[in-house]
Amino acid sequence: MTDRFDYDDIRGSVEKHLAKDNVGWIRIVTECLEDIKEHCDGEEKTYPSVSQIKQKFGALRIYLGGVTDDPFIQSSLEDAVQKAGRSCERCGNVSRIQCIGAWYANLCCWHAHEAAVERSEKFPKIGLNLRSKSATLQCRSCGYLGQIAWGVSGHRCPACVSKGW
Ligand SMILES: [Zn+2]
Ligand SMILES: [Zn+2]
Repeated sequence: MTDRFDYDDIRGSVEKHLAKDNVGWIRIVTECLEDIKEHCDGEEKTYPSVSQIKQKFGALRIYLGGVTDDPFIQSSLEDAVQKAGRSCERCGNVSRIQCIGAWYANLCCWHAHEAAVERSEKFPKIGLNLRSKSATLQCRSCGYLGQIAWGVSGHRCPACVSKGW
């Protein structure tokens, strides 16, 4: 990523790093950097340079161009990372890290299904969280980890229940 991060177009810059359809995370990171901008304006400090924003193993990573010792900036970035850890990259719904084949993503059950279907067109044996051992939180139909529609579902995720998978 060679584009310089543009504090006059925070959302546009975040979109370039995270790809446009990851609206859930784009919102979190944009809010975080808007707060940081406001804070720096108030203290007449220069904005921290952002070199990279990406998802790695299902977690949000925000890399700065240099070290910052500003506690406000540090805690704002930490908060954004923690919030993203519980939020679907695509829509911001509650989520957990999912393993789709050999690929990790933080997705709600709806978007995990979409991603798994997309992937399975190229790799037919792909499934969700095939190696997971966390049975309590796992959908018995598709393997999704996280939101189980308790009660009527036969221990399945809301996407499997509503689409009859
Ligand atoms: Zn989602
Ligand atoms: Zn399911």
